[in-house]
Amino acid sequence: MPHYLNYIDDQWCDSARQLQVMNPATDEVYATIAQAGIEEADLAMAAASRCVSQGLLSDIRPAQRVTWLLKAAEEIRNIADEAAQILCLENGKNLATARDEFIESARYFEYYAGIADKLEGISVPLGKNYIDFTQYIPMGVSVQIIPWNFPVSICARSLAPALAAGNAVVLKSPEISPLAITLLIKAIAKAGFPSGSINLLCGTGSEVGNHLVTHPNTNQIVFTGSVVTGQQILKDASAQATPCVMELGGKSAAIALADVNIKTLLASVKVGIFYNAGQVCSAMSRLLIQRSRYEEVKAAVVDLAQSLSIGDGLEDADLTPVVSRHQQQQILQIIDQARQEGATILTGGEAIDRAGYFVAPTIIEATHQMAIAQQEVFGPVLVIMPFAKEDEAVAMANGTDFGLVAGVFGEGLSQTLRIANQLIAGQVFVNEWFAGGVETPFGGVGMSGFGREKGQEAIYSYVQTRNIAVRLTV
Ligand code: NAD
Repeated sequence: MPHYLNYIDDQWCDSARQLQVMNPATDEVYATIAQAGIEEADLAMAAASRCVSQGLLSDIRPAQRVTWLLKAAEEIRNIADEAAQILCLENGKNLATARDEFIESARYFEYYAGIADKLEGISVPLGKNYIDFTQYIPMGVSVQIIPWNFPVSICARSLAPALAAGNAVVLKSPEISPLAITLLIKAIAKAGFPSGSINLLCGTGSEVGNHLVTHPNTNQIVFTGSVVTGQQILKDASAQATPCVMELGGKSAAIALADVNIKTLLASVKVGIFYNAGQVCSAMSRLLIQRSRYEEVKAAVVDLAQSLSIGDGLEDADLTPVVSRHQQQQILQIIDQARQEGATILTGGEAIDRAGYFVAPTIIEATHQMAIAQQEVFGPVLVIMPFAKEDEAVAMANGTDFGLVAGVFGEGLSQTLRIANQLIAGQVFVNEWFAGGVETPFGGVGMSGFGREKGQEAIYSYVQTRNIAVRLTV
């Protein structure tokens, strides 16, 4: 059985304990990985702290970081095809999605390579007797905690800008799906980053995650995951006032207007809620449909759900299993609760009768106040609801605790943009769900979190400003 290791202080290290990694498509143990504990976490923190105190990444000319980042991107591209297979097997996702994660990771390294030597401060005019300027200083040791849904690309999303800005990083991979990240780090390590700059630990959140969050040498926490864990980390981080970036969950709504192009909409519904089996923080988990088109769109989305190919990741099916038995049971439980509240299951709503953790593509007709329309499900479950007027749609779209993304589908430029202007979300899509890329800032408002990843803006999550104010003497 394959066995994977942790990366601490430039060494691949085994550990006394192991975690088992399941194949979600077969419900069998696929591999094992060394389970890091407190001792390993301390070694990783010591290596990263040494890298910071010696200025190995921060004191050099930024052009050198550009070279390393570009080399890392090249190495990631080299392994994309092979490593995608491992990601498929441990995570359940299909091969194309798994490969996309590696290509997107390479893009993060290329993109932030382009910024690493352009982090320029400003000169502040204070009159002829002063010179005043700002500098962007790396945070120091950036602790980054990664979820299982896109383990590779989310890892690269935070790691690349952190390194570009001159930070050393300690990553905690998810207990579920930690293998492909090790391949990512192996590729990146070939780029020649200085000693101690990248460390990777696989361990539990309650043990290793908590230890890293509360470690005295932690200068920043970048967390991507659930609201509940985010809240716990914020409490734990408050003891040392450690700055955090919080990328949390969502319950994002698409608004389909009366003049929606149905083909455009269906293409977005397909990726919006069924991509990665709906385990996407920015999934289109609600679809609000203007009443005059309601019956037509409802029939079309049910047809779409019923036409998806279902299979394991290596078969490259449209709908793949969810990541774990626990996740499958949780999704089915939320659907049951919706039934009890009086929601109508139009299609799906159950497990698929085959090995592995499959949930049938599900469309549910519900009302806005029901739990199924308010809570994140994190599975292939779309809630649809009618609306009469634009204002009602905006109120419903904005009417949850979350605010990660939102979308508008319609032909009229003024109407779609008027609505986009009113949506409370970090990102609004018009006529294409998931439009954007590594170049576009991403992050939430409300319970979806704070801070931005991706785009030029994200680099400022990894630095702090120092102002130098000089009084000129005569
Ligand atoms: P999770 O919160 O259970 O776990 C995320 C990570 O936190 C894991 O690595 C886990 O080990 C760690 N962790 C758990 N307890 C911890 C603690 N006390 N201290 C430190 N670390 C701890 O989330 P998950 O189930 O892995 O991922 C699903 C959730 O992530 C969903 O809610 C989804 O919306 C969210 N998510 C958000 C984004 C985004 O960018 N906004 C992206 C992907 C996933």
